[in-house]
Amino acid sequence: MSASAASTPPVSASAASTPPVSASAASGAAGAVPSVGVPSPRGALVGGESSVVVPLPAGAGAAGDGGFGAGGGGVAGGGVPGGGSSGGGAGVRFVSPVSVWAAGGAEQEERPEGVGKVDCGRRKCVALTFDDGPMGATSRLLGILERRRVRVTFFLVGRNAASHPEIVRRTAAGGHELANHSDTHTDLGAASSRKVRDELARTQRAIRQATGTTPTLMRPPYGSTDGTVAAAAKREGLAQILWSVDPLDWQVRDARTVAQRVVRRTRPGDIVLLHDIHPTTVAATPVIIDRLAANGYTFVTVTELFGHRPQPGRRYNSR
Ligand SMILES: [Zn+2]
Repeated sequence: MSASAASTPPVSASAASTPPVSASAASGAAGAVPSVGVPSPRGALVGGESSVVVPLPAGAGAAGDGGFGAGGGGVAGGGVPGGGSSGGGAGVRFVSPVSVWAAGGAEQEERPEGVGKVDCGRRKCVALTFDDGPMGATSRLLGILERRRVRVTFFLVGRNAASHPEIVRRTAAGGHELANHSDTHTDLGAASSRKVRDELARTQRAIRQATGTTPTLMRPPYGSTDGTVAAAAKREGLAQILWSVDPLDWQVRDARTVAQRVVRRTRPGDIVLLHDIHPTTVAATPVIIDRLAANGYTFVTVTELFGHRPQPGRRYNSR
């Protein structure tokens, strides 16, 4: 299975009206690692990863979490209609939180709380995933998800996690799944075996130190992976999670377009690639949730999507 399923048509460069700004300029966090990625020439690269970080400017609340304008439609903020377990009706279905799992520490071998309660073989499930944080915009996203009682999976950059342990803890407390996205957002497929091991281990440590939980999933930056990465991931107990829906949110930087692409392309069992470091993506999220909920989707973490813990080392693009 290849991650190159990104059949997204090219996006006009004019859509990216926001000039790139260094992340450190706004976050001020020493050691924060933006995903400034110039895709390397390696063939394994996938175009769908972020390339430039635009930090959330101070006070940039952007649109309220009801979306952009009146057309947000769907479920009102905080509303959880249609919580029934068997009906086919629309609405954000509430799944009991995995916060117990997140706080579980040494209980890694136990079945995560919440897994198995949603049968994604029968339900229309989708796993929203957010990469490259935590950064300033992550906090706002957490509020949006909390109000809608939607849990997602965050692929954290280790250095950013180490710089913002309080956001990592809040993420875990919200029942979201925390996963490994390397320590410095480096191209793992081009790195030495030792470097790959180090990148994964440091990130595991940063997340464990912040939350007491050790991730079981990783996503290679840029989708760049190979046998060396697979072996290192396996040693760390990490399954490789790629994606099946990529709205190129890092490129388009327009909330309406991002939401439209995700809603149109999502099919049951999909893993959606998003980046919480972009305010436009955060602004798109309430609309994505409300419209997919109206289409009957249940939101689950990646591990829940599979219904079991994905196999370490193995690569997955969707359920
Ligand atoms: Zn990334």
